[in-house]
Amino acid sequence: MVKKVYLAEPRGFCAGVEMAIKALSFLVQAFEAPIYCYHEIVHNKIVVDRFKNKGVVFVDSIDEVPEGAIVMLSAHGSAPEIVNASNEFNRLSVNAVCPLVSKVHHEAKTRASKGFEILYVGHAGHDEAIGTTAVAPDHIHLITDENDLENAIHKIGDDKEVALLAQTTLALSEWKDIQDKAYENYPELWTATRGDLCFATTNRQSALKELVKLSDVILIIGSSNSSNTLALEKVAKESGCERVYRIDSAEQIAGINLHDDDVVGVTAGASAPDDVVQSVIDACASFEPVENVRVIDEDEYFPLPSQLRNLVMDMNFAVDSMFSKLRESKGISNSASVDLKRVFQNDKEVSASEVLVG
Ligand code: SF4
Repeated sequence: MVKKVYLAEPRGFCAGVEMAIKALSFLVQAFEAPIYCYHEIVHNKIVVDRFKNKGVVFVDSIDEVPEGAIVMLSAHGSAPEIVNASNEFNRLSVNAVCPLVSKVHHEAKTRASKGFEILYVGHAGHDEAIGTTAVAPDHIHLITDENDLENAIHKIGDDKEVALLAQTTLALSEWKDIQDKAYENYPELWTATRGDLCFATTNRQSALKELVKLSDVILIIGSSNSSNTLALEKVAKESGCERVYRIDSAEQIAGINLHDDDVVGVTAGASAPDDVVQSVIDACASFEPVENVRVIDEDEYFPLPSQLRNLVMDMNFAVDSMFSKLRESKGISNSASVDLKRVFQNDKEVSASEVLVG
């Protein structure tokens, strides 16, 4: 047992993850297994395992998706050639890329077409970085640290226009020093007006900083391959907490040395489900009531991917046409027409956590 638990708000699923999980859940419910998913739909082992149990097959190469199959592309964004290839061989492809990642792809494409060299701050090997660098491979320089920046500056020289873009899920500190150094070399440096770090990442980091002020121990729920989860871990340590633990699930609390006078701060990366957060809180068993530490109300919402909405419209048209003759012959009025579009009407009211549990 611990003395008290503070819970960060916002924490856990962001609008992009909500959209991706609901979209894949829809495909799982509407079509027979297997449904294919290129890369992990989101970087969370528990979420991925739940979908595997429902017949989703996760692949790392689009060639593994058979002809005519249904395939979803992950929230992290995919290289343009993967997006194109996913539509070949009569496959039905639904791209669940987060709109904020698409925005960075768009910035990369536009800057490259104007002849800019692009410094892209990101994590080597991360799906989002792989997808974004593939948008303009001849113009993008992946920057993981200051050494990379120096090498890129050396390569670019001083007669080119230069832009700075970033992976959406970095900690501000991972990006700011590189930005400052890049400005020293390129005073005319182009950056996105509001930066590329997404609202969900920065909101979760702000809430965590408040949590650190109140807590002896910080528990961060999320997988080891989740960039925004690792950024949270970094932020907690940089903010002065000496006992920071990243855990996948409540079972791992047993391995942490918690005391009954500890005040514990709990937060979760953008791809960690709410029921796991609840099980961690339960496992902490605090003497005092759990208290929320809220920095902002997050009400962003991203609609389901256009391919999915178009698919439902097409199905609606096909089914409605098939039954129109029957309706006429039975004297049934038009008000009884088929309306499959209703499946999305309550989408905003139902959370991805509920969908997953259900
Ligand atoms: S963390 Fe940000 S960029 Fe990533 S899916 Fe969520 S909203 Fe989109």
